[in-house]
Amino acid sequence: MAVNTPGGYSGRIGYYDLTKKSVTDLAWNEEEVLPFIGGRGLAALLLYKLLPPGADPLSPDNPLIFAAGPFTGTKVPSSSRWSVAAKSPLTGLTGSGNGGGNFGPSLKWAGLDALVISGKATRPSYLFIDDGAFFLKSAAHLWRKSPEEASLAICSEIGVSAGDPHVGICAIGRAGEEGVGLSIILSKDHSAGRGGLGAVMGSKNLKAVAVRGSRKVEVFDPLALNRRTRGMTDDLMKQNHYASFIKYGSMSALRDRYGVMGGFLTFNGQKGSCPHLDHIDGDAMYPYLWPSESCFGCPMPCTHYFAVEEGDYGPVRGRGVQAATSLAFGAQCGMTDIEAILKAHARTNYYGLDLISAPGVIAFAMESYQRGIIGRDTTEGLDLSWANANDAVLESIELMGQNEGFGRLLNRGVKALSEDWGEKTKSFALHVKGMETTDADPRVWPTWGLMYAVSSRGADHCRALCFAEMGGMPEDVLNRIAGTTEAADPAGIEGKGKVVSYCEDIRALADSLELCKFVTQGQLGYPEYLTDLFHSVTGLKWDAEELRKAGERIVQLERLFNLQEGLTPEDDTLPERFLSEPVLDGPAKGRVVHLAPMLEEYYHARGWDRKTGEPVTERLDALGLRAMTEIRKKS
Ligand code: SF4
Repeated sequence: MAVNTPGGYSGRIGYYDLTKKSVTDLAWNEEEVLPFIGGRGLAALLLYKLLPPGADPLSPDNPLIFAAGPFTGTKVPSSSRWSVAAKSPLTGLTGSGNGGGNFGPSLKWAGLDALVISGKATRPSYLFIDDGAFFLKSAAHLWRKSPEEASLAICSEIGVSAGDPHVGICAIGRAGEEGVGLSIILSKDHSAGRGGLGAVMGSKNLKAVAVRGSRKVEVFDPLALNRRTRGMTDDLMKQNHYASFIKYGSMSALRDRYGVMGGFLTFNGQKGSCPHLDHIDGDAMYPYLWPSESCFGCPMPCTHYFAVEEGDYGPVRGRGVQAATSLAFGAQCGMTDIEAILKAHARTNYYGLDLISAPGVIAFAMESYQRGIIGRDTTEGLDLSWANANDAVLESIELMGQNEGFGRLLNRGVKALSEDWGEKTKSFALHVKGMETTDADPRVWPTWGLMYAVSSRGADHCRALCFAEMGGMPEDVLNRIAGTTEAADPAGIEGKGKVVSYCEDIRALADSLELCKFVTQGQLGYPEYLTDLFHSVTGLKWDAEELRKAGERIVQLERLFNLQEGLTPEDDTLPERFLSEPVLDGPAKGRVVHLAPMLEEYYHARGWDRKTGEPVTERLDALGLRAMTEIRKKS
């Protein structure tokens, strides 16, 4: 039953128990929900409250939570994101993510701020929510289909066209069905849920969630919102990256950022430059791209379709290539053929594998093979040499997606494989807390190293997305946050801990409002920019500090969850390669990450005890979190 809420909220958190096939609503209290805003924050809150401590991530007890934000489904540009959370089977810690498309708005238009799915269906199923009414349907015929194939079949069954803007579908591929820890959830090739949330969904025998909604999201001041929306669109169009994102998404970063500064993790981080950059950059990819459809309400359509019509790797079609595609498959795995890279992207999505972790584990295996630590007896005959990268990676993806043979081994992830393959692999096992690193070298941008080390979901860049060292944060902002601009200097130390802490706060804010980070990566992501927008949607007069503080509250709650699930301060670290092996070539030659002093400053900025890693009582009090933790301890 929906309750009276501020503008932008539906007032309903639906709870579906797959075991009992029953729907209930969880309480929607302003005092509890609003401090976490919605989206990622609401999902983190629900996960903290609902997961029995220590529960097996692949058990029916692990709640799978989808959430939208107060901006979702309104006119606010680029606010169509949705968050998903559960305990991660890959890390045993917070598993969460944020995707695009139109699933988020559909959830809101169906009358839901969040959806919790617990239990386990007796047979393969999908959940259809039609304007707030729940139906569990058989998915026996959809098992083994790709997320895209399953979504198209569901559209046909529920009698809507595939392009219906009021219908959003999230689905898993075969990797999720097979319980693979590197699996994710996809909606129109927008993926979310690094850390194996696809496997959590598969463990529930749940192939997909389809939502149709027709309700309007009421906002506090529609006229003011119209003005602010026009202003935000104008401001977005003035951003430096706007035109290139429309041309080919984030691909321009390969040449403009990595080509100039170094930072490729070429051959699993053995080189900082990329010798075959001309073959994998945006210009190499451009001839294969078609104009994209944008996520709902976004004036910066950035996710392109592509097609390789013929040749060794065609025909293949796909969607959603970004810089990560070429960085991971092209540089990290050493693939030199853009058509093979596009096929690798399409097949990874086909199976519902993580586009960062899957190439990460393949690159790790390739270096292990290069060093003679594993051979063809381990790879079951597959030639994993860098010279054979194009075919070796594609074959590995097929095996991983089907969870068979050598692919089944790769699906254990870098951390587990490194433990099995021995001490000699430890230095180049590029993971943090069990999650594979993103494809950028933190020895070039040390704040990225700090981000990887402290992120609540393991090695990940999206939690802080700090562009200070890439010229992306103005001096006045740096001075205000850190009292110095040294954080922008890749060779500096001071200020980086404070700046990363701040960036985590504002990214948590964007993730909870469900604003796209491609849009909010600069000026549009600062709390000062968002206060008027927040007021016109919700009617809440929060100042910039209150908005930032909400972001911090979310980061701290995710920390509390991780501590509860066994995290220790020793886990806040980096792979040995980044700490002690200098970059061998390129503009960043000779650099390593000096993590300890940055971590010290970060812990201080966060208010975390250096010995226990826990937030100190004063900080919990300042954020209104202490009562929650005490209730949790007693339960
Ligand atoms: S910038 Fe791209 S990913 Fe972000 S909302 Fe717009 S179309 Fe979607």
